[in-house]
Amino acid sequence: MSNIGFIGLGNMGFPMAQNLAKEKQHNIYVFDLNIETLKKNLWPENVVPTNDLSELATNSDTVITCLPDISIVQEVYYGNKGILSNLKEGTLAIDMSSSDPHLTIELGNTLTKMGVDLIDAPVSGGVKKAISGELAILVGGDKPNVEKAMPTLTLMGGKIIHTGSLGSGQACKCLNNLCSATGLLVVAEALSLAEKFGVMPDTFIDVLNYSSGKNNSTENKFHQFILSEKFNSGFRMDLMNKDILTALNLANSLKVDFSLSKTSIDKWKRAENELELGCDHTEIAGWQRKLS
Ligand code: NAD
Repeated sequence: MSNIGFIGLGNMGFPMAQNLAKEKQHNIYVFDLNIETLKKNLWPENVVPTNDLSELATNSDTVITCLPDISIVQEVYYGNKGILSNLKEGTLAIDMSSSDPHLTIELGNTLTKMGVDLIDAPVSGGVKKAISGELAILVGGDKPNVEKAMPTLTLMGGKIIHTGSLGSGQACKCLNNLCSATGLLVVAEALSLAEKFGVMPDTFIDVLNYSSGKNNSTENKFHQFILSEKFNSGFRMDLMNKDILTALNLANSLKVDFSLSKTSIDKWKRAENELELGCDHTEIAGWQRKLS
């Protein structure tokens, strides 16, 4: 039975680590700064909640991170209390955070020097699929490392796609979220206009869902989180903005015309500045309705 260290037990990481633990194929050391998540009664017996990162590092054959952004992943590996010096040679590091493709390559180079192999494996599907273990997992890295990770990833994902070399999972992830964010925003704008014309909001979303204008947000977010005014999808607006800004930086670095996307990214940033800190990303549609 191999040992896994899992760092970052938030909206996504907590159910993902629970799914890893369920099959009882591994001993799992779990860590988060939020000590509430480390209560023993939350976990089955093959899980060791620890508030000591070095204990997690020395005991792990595989280390998984599911953290807000790359700066925190870097901090965990080589910050003041970083785990890098405690890892065994040959450890496999899997970063399942949504992060930055270029900085992931840099992180990989640093880890390689210490004998640690990195793959990036960001996820899509939200909290619902994190709980059901049906996430899409976008994996970048060398084939042998990806193959080594596969049995672990299949415990959390329904579809695992090897996207190419290290960082490519992150490139695909931020571009996926750009498409998702822009799709949500354009529907929010169209909805404001439909409402002004006198069409009922629920009716308009039904129109899209039975017509060619539908997308993931019309099917899975508008009735559920936006028109219900629950705004509780479990994915924060600042995390969405981090991802779409990463996409813009990538476009700039590779000199791709991004004029349409840039307009969407600017409007998302404006919404974040005007809304409450830490709000759910679906709040942008409520914000848009009030603009009109
Ligand atoms: P979250 O904020 O709910 O969870 C992050 C967790 O990391 C928190 O529990 C926090 O306490 C912990 N943390 C922060 N700094 C830490 C540190 N230095 N050491 C240990 N733990 C630390 O975020 P989330 O929604 O679970 O997202 C995690 C990652 O997954 C992000 O990169 C996000 O963009 C991505 N993601 C989220 C969703 C979603 O629907 N929520 C979907 C796909 C991808």
